[in-house]
Amino acid sequence: MAKYTGPVCKLCRREGEKLFLKGSRCLTPKCSFERRSYPPGQHGREGQFRRGRASDYLLQLREKQKARRIYGLMEHQFSIYFNRAERRSGLTGSNLLILLESRLDNVVYRLGMAASRPQARQLVAHGHIMLNGRKTNIPSALVSEGDLISIRPESSRRTYFKDLRQNIDDRQVPRWLSLDTGSLSGKILSLPVREDIDVSLNEQLIVEYYSR
Ligand code: SF4
Repeated sequence: MAKYTGPVCKLCRREGEKLFLKGSRCLTPKCSFERRSYPPGQHGREGQFRRGRASDYLLQLREKQKARRIYGLMEHQFSIYFNRAERRSGLTGSNLLILLESRLDNVVYRLGMAASRPQARQLVAHGHIMLNGRKTNIPSALVSEGDLISIRPESSRRTYFKDLRQNIDDRQVPRWLSLDTGSLSGKILSLPVREDIDVSLNEQLIVEYYSR
């Protein structure tokens, strides 16, 4: 599946906030957004002061783009999630976020097995993760209640996972997940509800964007 391969810090600067796409670097002074918190491009800095009130369309577009970038999805993939969310009963915006949170790469990130969603995606794509005891390399696989996520035995001998096992003790995981730090495995206690999802997104704007 296609993915964005350009400079990721530009995405944070474009959205005007930190999206935490680079793991621990995002928490250090090396973060690009800390040093240049204006939009990228030749006129980014001046445009920041010149811009008037943003139109409704611009606000909706930016919210959709931000969600897409947080979860690392291309336009087409994101619209597929929106269509699925629309077909489910309940609020489309909440359904959308719940679907995005249920992706295997996001769960690996939420369990603290990776420092960022892009890294979690790579761990899954490289076959280091097992879902219900079976190796899976599909980052977009959707998890269900009761599913078990673990590290493939061959992979758990790697330095990355040995270090992770030593440092993962104080990780807080969302209440819809449980983490066994000894075996480095996690369980889906239940699918999340909107209140469990701590991303700074106004999903209603995304729904309005697709309802134009
Ligand atoms: Fe965004 Fe992280 Fe880059 Fe900072 S370091 S701009 S938070 S991706």
